[in-house]
Amino acid sequence: MNVLQTGSIKTTCPYCGVGCGVLASMDEQGVVSVKGDPDHPANYGRLCSKGTALGETAYLQDRLLYPEIKGEQVSWDQALSTISGRFSEIIDEHGADAVAFYVSGQLLTEDYYVANKLMKGFIGSANIDTNSRLCMSSAVAAYKRAFGEDCVPCSFEDLDKANLIVLTGSNAAWCHPILFQQIVRAKKANPKLKVINIDPRETQTTSAADIQLSLKPGTDAVLFNGLLNYLKELDIENNFFTENCTSGIDGALQAAKESAPSIASVAEQCALSEEDVSEFYNLFANTEKVVTVFSQGINQSSSGVDKGNAIINCHLFTGRIGRPGMGPFSFTGQPNAMGGREVGGLANQLAAHMDLENPEHCDRVQRFWNSPTIANKQGLKAVDLFEAIDQGKVKAVWIMATNPVVSMPDAEKVKAALKKCELVIVSDCVRETDTAKVADILLPALTWGENDGTVTNSDRHISRRRSFLTAPGQAKADWDIITEVAHRMGFAEHFPYASAADIFREHAALSAFENDDKANAHRFFNISELQNITNQEYETFPIKPWPITAESPAGTKRLFSNGKFNTPDGKARFISVTPRAPAFSTTKEFDLVLNTGRVRDHWHTMTRTGVSPRLSAHIHEPFVEVNPLDAAQYGLTDRSLARINGPLEKSVIVRVQYSDKQQRGSIFLPIHWNGQFSSRANVGALIPSVVDPISGQPESKHGIVNIEPY
Ligand code: SF4
Repeated sequence: MNVLQTGSIKTTCPYCGVGCGVLASMDEQGVVSVKGDPDHPANYGRLCSKGTALGETAYLQDRLLYPEIKGEQVSWDQALSTISGRFSEIIDEHGADAVAFYVSGQLLTEDYYVANKLMKGFIGSANIDTNSRLCMSSAVAAYKRAFGEDCVPCSFEDLDKANLIVLTGSNAAWCHPILFQQIVRAKKANPKLKVINIDPRETQTTSAADIQLSLKPGTDAVLFNGLLNYLKELDIENNFFTENCTSGIDGALQAAKESAPSIASVAEQCALSEEDVSEFYNLFANTEKVVTVFSQGINQSSSGVDKGNAIINCHLFTGRIGRPGMGPFSFTGQPNAMGGREVGGLANQLAAHMDLENPEHCDRVQRFWNSPTIANKQGLKAVDLFEAIDQGKVKAVWIMATNPVVSMPDAEKVKAALKKCELVIVSDCVRETDTAKVADILLPALTWGENDGTVTNSDRHISRRRSFLTAPGQAKADWDIITEVAHRMGFAEHFPYASAADIFREHAALSAFENDDKANAHRFFNISELQNITNQEYETFPIKPWPITAESPAGTKRLFSNGKFNTPDGKARFISVTPRAPAFSTTKEFDLVLNTGRVRDHWHTMTRTGVSPRLSAHIHEPFVEVNPLDAAQYGLTDRSLARINGPLEKSVIVRVQYSDKQQRGSIFLPIHWNGQFSSRANVGALIPSVVDPISGQPESKHGIVNIEPY
């Protein structure tokens, strides 16, 4: 059994992007208990059901305890030497792009940093992508287009200061519960605060909404283009802001007018009533303090980047950004999706928010790393990466802390691709994931309670994840495993890390390195002291929102307060958005729209939450939500089993749940269940690999299916 190393420790919840602070302790019998950290600015002592159950999942069943090759236990040295040897052989024979890493928003920033450095600076390929591609990459691209950099302008405290909160594509009540509770409390404290929920289906989040807009799936850009057009017609423009702080307004207004010329047109395209559209537009137009929250319902779309920019356009037009209680605000899915982005965890990013395709940035990072090579073009994004594995172009892949055989679109094809890949390495904490089953080499990694480092949450706060349990079996930190492989590939002097603190210092130093150009003003640590912090200072590192600079050593809650953006001319960019329908429309054969999402008490593919009886009791089996009228049409009864068939010739079999909150013509399936918990409910198998052309994010929120009794 693992052993508690200190009496009680401050750490961070490993689930969603709220990044709640947790106080963990353990009694003499080894029972771990948790409570919310009253000092953490994300949650001030509160935890949701998943966070509260962390103690129950501290000892995961089926832990991966020692390295294995082809199912046989081997020594660490044997496993690591095999990996480094095979990687080197494949690179020598086929080039650097024949190998890849597929990592995860579950990794700590320090893990991410080392993986990114090895792949981009020493192997010389940008073939490192992350499951954050499935989660936030459209928001990243939308920010980058509008602001010149990937950064969330708002702070959680803006939710308390707003007079209007527009939630779009976000079931915050179940996916970001602590923020939803914050909104509910804000409503109680401020009778003026109105909440609008934009979602094709009514969810728990609807309970806090003054207006529910159950729009036609995929029409979000029409709705926000219509809002921009309406704001223009009402002359709600913040002229000083648009003239001095933005560019490209004319094109965006023209595109908005063409695609959404009137409330009547918007109502018709979005299948909403004119009264509801009008009420939303009026509220937005007449409320200065507006926060627009967007999440996976916007991002997981083949036009997710445009949808994000359609939202941002409305805030730029009104100048509602950079001030208290206002701004476009993406709620991050994973605990460290943001930290991964900071160190270049996506295949189209370089470290420290620098650009792969900017020769000056590549030169700067290469000089800092003193590396023999540097990737200078984008690598393969997740869907393309697994396609390249399928085609035999990528011959070795190292998958860290994620389960793509379940979570990727066209999941069965991903599984088949991995089965024929020359070398599949999986580092994880549990042994029996669907992805681990197709691995050649398994590496036991530390998990929550055992690993040590930092994470960055949805409002840019950097928090410490601290270890208080000893490593089970032979498990190691991810950064340590990657470092060992780097050493065996001949790069020992460049990977001199003995602790997560060593990596943090280097990350901080790179962030500050030659950081005097305007285009990178918001790198996280533009302050020299952080690169020299002691181990003790790292251990007690206070929770701060980046950027942390000499002018704001305690961090920066809100960005763009000075109206300056990180584009070459310092102005934010309006983006002309021409709305596009989802890639697939219903057909005679596949006559229902498939919507996917999460349930309250499970996380991702359930490898952790699935072992908690308490969490599993909330919803104990996979289900499909169907409108009762549709159910009657297809001969389904409530609680019966149904087979759902998709165009990829794959099916799932799940329990029917009547819901009059579900629009007719569409069904809802949760994403969590997989081979560990239900062999017939892998929703990823139903989703085609259609992606946004800019971000590469799959359209996981929208598919077409049919349904029949089973
Ligand atoms: Fe954990 Fe998210 Fe719940 Fe907070 S809201 S306790 S971070 S799952």
